[in-house]
Amino acid sequence: VSGEPVVLVIEDDIDISRALQALLGRAGYEVVLAGDGREGLRRFHAINPSIVVLDVGLPSLDGWTILDRIRELSQAPVLMLTAKGDEMDKVRGLRGGADDYLTKPFGNQELLARIEAILRREELRRHDPNRYDPSAEAAKLPRNTFNEGDVFIDITAHRVEVMGKEIDLTPIEFHLLETLMRHRGAVLTNEQLLQHAWRDPTATGPDRVKFAVLRLRRKLGWSAPGDGPIETVRGFGYRFTNRG
Ligand code: CA
Repeated sequence: VSGEPVVLVIEDDIDISRALQALLGRAGYEVVLAGDGREGLRRFHAINPSIVVLDVGLPSLDGWTILDRIRELSQAPVLMLTAKGDEMDKVRGLRGGADDYLTKPFGNQELLARIEAILRREELRRHDPNRYDPSAEAAKLPRNTFNEGDVFIDITAHRVEVMGKEIDLTPIEFHLLETLMRHRGAVLTNEQLLQHAWRDPTATGPDRVKFAVLRLRRKLGWSAPGDGPIETVRGFGYRFTNRG
């Protein structure tokens, strides 16, 4: 068994998938190919890859459906490949929980750089000392909780409730909520949120923050911009308020 990161490439265009296999293989990754959506999902569950490179336009099940199915069960990183110049695809991908996207045609080095960046973020998250560790040692720690109006967060137990109902959040969404609640009342910039929630001070991209906030609001049950305690402060960032 090798220790190389495993990349699952779900792509129906044989020329592209063979090129990706060669490129990623040379870069030291183990590559598994799937030529359609159903096979992609089967392989995903069979091999538990380090990262998925997922084409949007696929036969049998399209990339959006695959992304939804993966997100139902897993936080494995997903890099979407979208059709040329399709802005809606980017928006949809980030809203749906993709970690990043690339528009075809893309350069080899750009693809490698994106994959490396995503895997590095995953690695940082895994080694984060603040991350919930279910060992007995961690269980002895004092509970670290915030209760603000309708929202309750238990950082040690990695648990979020809204009006007593438990909410399932991805690690990014959880850290985002945690960061906003720890600094409640203060306006946090996109850069500060990227640094705290993504644990990646070199990351850029207000869109990344914007769509993560949208998903978080939706999961917490506040879909309209004026609903709930997470306030957008136009031109500055976001603030957790307790407006009751
Ligand atoms: Ca395709």
